[in-house]
Amino acid sequence: MSDKSTSSNPATAAPPEKPVAPLKIYPIVKYGDRILEKPGEPVAKFDAALEQLAEDMFASMYAAQGVGLAAPQIGLSLRLAVVDVTGGKNPEAKIVLANPEIIHAEGEVREEEGCLSIPGFRGYVMRPQFVTVKAQNAKGESFEIRGENLLARAFCHEIDHLNGVLFIQHLSMLKRDLIRRKIKKLRKQGEW
Ligand SMILES: [Zn+2]
Repeated sequence: MSDKSTSSNPATAAPPEKPVAPLKIYPIVKYGDRILEKPGEPVAKFDAALEQLAEDMFASMYAAQGVGLAAPQIGLSLRLAVVDVTGGKNPEAKIVLANPEIIHAEGEVREEEGCLSIPGFRGYVMRPQFVTVKAQNAKGESFEIRGENLLARAFCHEIDHLNGVLFIQHLSMLKRDLIRRKIKKLRKQGEW
């Protein structure tokens, strides 16, 4: 922006904005924190605070450039996750999963996967090609959604989080131990 512009000119002044609750960007909990390996508590209260939390989780996920984020990853032991495989490009792709369950799975795809709580590490994980998930939205309304490929993988990965399971638990013992050792080293160096 030019330093010669003034806010007094109505033609260039910013339009008044609709009042919206400011979004909170949560720091992402990293591997090593016990909350990541603990099953979340069911979501029991569907209110404005929960809707706000879901929006804050989307904002936190986009800020971290993720396609899914589960409540334990922001330090909340709650069966709540958000998924958007478009990275915020399509508002209709925003999916809130409260108390989700996989009710059908089909096919197998082996693909590389990563996790916002284990930054810098990836590994090949076998996931179903299609899954159908039953969940509630932020208002508590039940719905079913079918996902294919990346979306199916994101559903499985986030539901794993709600059960205290991380993607590295699906890797071979060798690969998992290698990642654990590297993280231990990073932690010693104060880089984790
Ligand atoms: Zn993850």
